[in-house]
Amino acid sequence: MPEHILSGIKAIVAMKLKKEGKLQREIAEYLKMDRSIISHYLHGRHPSDRVMRVSEEIVDLPAEYGIRIINSMSEDRELTKKIIDNLYHVKIEIDRNKCILCGECLECPYNAIFKNGHLIEIDNNKCMLCGDCIAICPVNALKLNKFLPNELEE
Ligand code: SF4
Ligand code: SF4
Repeated sequence: MPEHILSGIKAIVAMKLKKEGKLQREIAEYLKMDRSIISHYLHGRHPSDRVMRVSEEIVDLPAEYGIRIINSMSEDRELTKKIIDNLYHVKIEIDRNKCILCGECLECPYNAIFKNGHLIEIDNNKCMLCGDCIAICPVNALKLNKFLPNELEE
């Protein structure tokens, strides 16, 4: 079932990318999928209605919950990050007024969090949006903030 839901989420992203003006070929490359499957999605032959309903419910969740669920369904970190970027347009930010410098978040599996003098810093280029640091911070100093799509695009 998780693979089906992930397919439903990919179908949602594919349709979103189409609305943004992307070509079928570009969408297939972006989602690392066969063009024929993307073509099916874009012509309404997406996964079952039930799968699409559940997928839409996940996508509509607040980002901090949505990213945890999507991460749990996919082992391809690079693709997962692209899907999350496309759906939520978020990045991790730290509230320095709350941070007690406990160091728990330095366990980031992608080394995206580091200590710079007395400050904790986040390298959003390395962050894979796994959500682990948000869950682990004891004082809720880490959160997802929305950004305008062109802020981080290359
Ligand atoms: S969301 Fe994951 S990858 Fe990004 S900074 Fe937090 S722990 Fe690291
Ligand atoms: S886990 Fe939270 S409180 Fe601890 S260092 Fe990181 S941001 Fe600061």
